Amino acid sequence: MAPMTQEGDPPILVSACLAGRACRFDGAANPDDEVGRLVADGRALLVCPEEDGGLGTPRPPAEIVGGDGHDVLDGRARVVTHAGDDVTDAYLAGARIALQTARRAGVRTAILKVRSPSCGAGCVYDGSFTRTLRTGDGVTAALLQANGIEVRTDSS
Ligand code: SF4
Repeated sequence: MAPMTQEGDPPILVSACLAGRACRFDGAANPDDEVGRLVADGRALLVCPEEDGGLGTPRPPAEIVGGDGHDVLDGRARVVTHAGDDVTDAYLAGARIALQTARRAGVRTAILKVRSPSCGAGCVYDGSFTRTLRTGDGVTAALLQANGIEVRTDSS
């Protein structure tokens, strides 16, 4: 099979849980075959915006209430746990760290975890905690996109 990337290409930013790190809110991982190959090839740059923003693992599940990640960046929506705690600042901090990490390495593409309030792109949970999806992006995905980085998700 042909190599996915050429030598000298910038790394691909990936959600750490897709690379097998047990950093998900419930302490699990989401290993993904494509990301695993990038890691094996030394082409993956791992970030976990929720841990990087200061949240521990495990941590309470959270959803975006009042919009999606773009709305959070604009101050029109918040990230809230099921118990009602506002964790918006931690999500924003983690998103900024991911962007900084990406910029330093010249990243142009990211493969992030589908449906996450941080990493999801295309659809996220709607803030009702009923596992209902809405169109939109997570906070980190939105910030990366706003800065010209192509974001796609895993296929799970
Ligand atoms: S989806 Fe993103 S924030 Fe959530 S565990 Fe994976 S890397 Fe961390």
